[in-house]
Amino acid sequence: MPRQNGSISKRTHRSQRERLPPASVDPGAKRRFQFRLLKWYQQHGRDLPWRKTSDPYKILVSEVMLQQTQVDRVIPKYHEFLERYPSFQDLAEAPIEEVRKTWYPLGYNVRPYRLHSIACETVARYGGTLPNHPEELLSFKGIGRYTAGAIRSFAFNEDAPILDTNVIRVLHRVFVGTGDPKTQKRQLWALSEALIPRGKGYDFNQALMDFGAMVCTARDPYCLLCPMKDLCKTYPFDPHRSE
Ligand code: SF4
Repeated sequence: MPRQNGSISKRTHRSQRERLPPASVDPGAKRRFQFRLLKWYQQHGRDLPWRKTSDPYKILVSEVMLQQTQVDRVIPKYHEFLERYPSFQDLAEAPIEEVRKTWYPLGYNVRPYRLHSIACETVARYGGTLPNHPEELLSFKGIGRYTAGAIRSFAFNEDAPILDTNVIRVLHRVFVGTGDPKTQKRQLWALSEALIPRGKGYDFNQALMDFGAMVCTARDPYCLLCPMKDLCKTYPFDPHRSE
């Protein structure tokens, strides 16, 4: 697989420096959390169009669109965008101004430029197929650690951790309970990795995101009905406490 000189090795060294300490989670609490989360997801998981595909291009488009944008605003644009640009090749060949107009009105307008640049790079360096190696994914401008984890787990079915706003909130409330989650990212990344049941990264990560969006919400989480309440270090959540 082609590699770009320099950038990969820099990433590799940085990644080695950032290698996470193993997260210490009580094994019983871990098993109960995994079981309950997957069970909850089976019953309540959202039916979303990007969950019906394993095409890395479509997963990437959905992930970039979902950054800072609500799911219900993303769905129609996701379909329109993919109809117009069905592959990395089609997107790479499109003029960037046209891509930017197609993106409207999603906002946060650096995203169409990033997506277009990832498509051009995928075509130029990898023949139009997105790699699954974490260091190679992270070498793309516009693919950060969360997006790399999402692509690996949702497109390549790997047990790769993710950590977005919803996941940070859920893991911090259930397993940490004190301090500012923004200053605990290393610990939370390690926790996200340690909690994945082997071979179930796809469902587990989708479940975490849905659980954060639907039960353990930012304001007024549904603690009384929550399947995690006897495990949760924050139960019952006090909306007046600072997180
Ligand atoms: S008990 Fe409340 S704070 Fe804890 S995970 Fe459930 S909804 Fe979130």
